[in-house]
Amino acid sequence: MKTLPVRILDALQSHYLDSEVRLHEPIFEGDEKRLVTACLDSSFVSTVGPFVSEFENKLKGVTGAQHVIATSSGTAALHLALLGAGVKKGTEVIMSPLTFVATANAVSYCDAIPHFIDVSPKTLGVDPEALCRRLDEIGNITSLGCINKTTGRQIKAVIPVHTYGNPCDLDEIMRICVEYSLEVIEDAAESLGSYYVNRHTGTFGRCGIISFNGNKIITTGSGGAILTDDPAIASKLRHLSTTAKVVHPWKYYHDEIGYNYRMSNLSAALGCAQLDQLSTFIEIKRRHAEKYLEIFSEFEDLTVLEESKKSRSNYWLQTLVLGVDQDSCRDEVLGLTNANGIMTRPNWELLHHLPMYKDAPCGNLKVVESLGKRIINLPSGVSLKWKQLH
Ligand SMILES: *Cc1c(COP(=O)(O)O)cnc(C)c1O
Repeated sequence: MKTLPVRILDALQSHYLDSEVRLHEPIFEGDEKRLVTACLDSSFVSTVGPFVSEFENKLKGVTGAQHVIATSSGTAALHLALLGAGVKKGTEVIMSPLTFVATANAVSYCDAIPHFIDVSPKTLGVDPEALCRRLDEIGNITSLGCINKTTGRQIKAVIPVHTYGNPCDLDEIMRICVEYSLEVIEDAAESLGSYYVNRHTGTFGRCGIISFNGNKIITTGSGGAILTDDPAIASKLRHLSTTAKVVHPWKYYHDEIGYNYRMSNLSAALGCAQLDQLSTFIEIKRRHAEKYLEIFSEFEDLTVLEESKKSRSNYWLQTLVLGVDQDSCRDEVLGLTNANGIMTRPNWELLHHLPMYKDAPCGNLKVVESLGKRIINLPSGVSLKWKQLH
């Protein structure tokens, strides 16, 4: 009888067409070269230029957001979105610890404090029940907002992360946040093209953000965007992203401390070409998901992460979750697949395990502590090819 890691390796090897398979790589087979060349020819390669607004308008079309501000990274977008939602020094922001470090870092940039709560094993995002339980336990609703009884600090906001592109239970999370007067800022960095009940992720809270880093579903090299329906927040954040410079034909006047966070025209040119291919990329990724579900359907000790009934995922990173009793073999699966040319990765180290967040306030993290030892991301790129069996 073969061990589980060997069975997983065999299953993957027998279905991939190529012997070397990357986790996720960008492909540039659309209009990228033409648009980037046009940008170079125009000499406008920095933050001024027509591709930036064209990219923003295309994003409005895809997401349905009223306002879009393109930024230099997803992290920069999240920092600004938090400022826009009023996250201030000494306030707490609730999130799950199962995310890329940028989610918590952006909170720290505001001199605010991340507060970690548990995830739902179905979505891998913030668990509405855990959120409700934690707020019942420590939240005190006052005229100044929701106060954490144990720390005396205001709890200002919640950041739901749509982990690996898979939408969280937004209905429930939004309902609870209204009840406790909390702002919602969605970290939709990974979920461009993912929907919850026919509405694009990142458009439910006050602001949402997307990332266009090289490993995301589409890329601008480095880049991000803020989505919001609030015109006042949009103009404030656009201003902050361009060093708070007051628009004028020749004067340099800045009316507050701003940031150099605007997307460059060169990145936006790449983004325009990539965005045109988004629906094709998603179609291919959804087929990868079906394929993995089929390959692993007969395995009893693991599951392939699937979208919930209410959502439609972009399946950015395909995700295998080992059974509760199989956590001890995760590193063996990672070792064996990587040694054999199949690039797999574990989840990010849980944020409350990192030195800078080890003393952060947190609720009961039982589910995420267990899940954090059992997640494996599988090759998910658009260029991944399967053998045509039979
Ligand atoms: C990629 C990512 C970010 C940050 O985006 P960058 O563009 O790399 O700064 C933030 N949150 C999550 C969940 C991400 O995956």
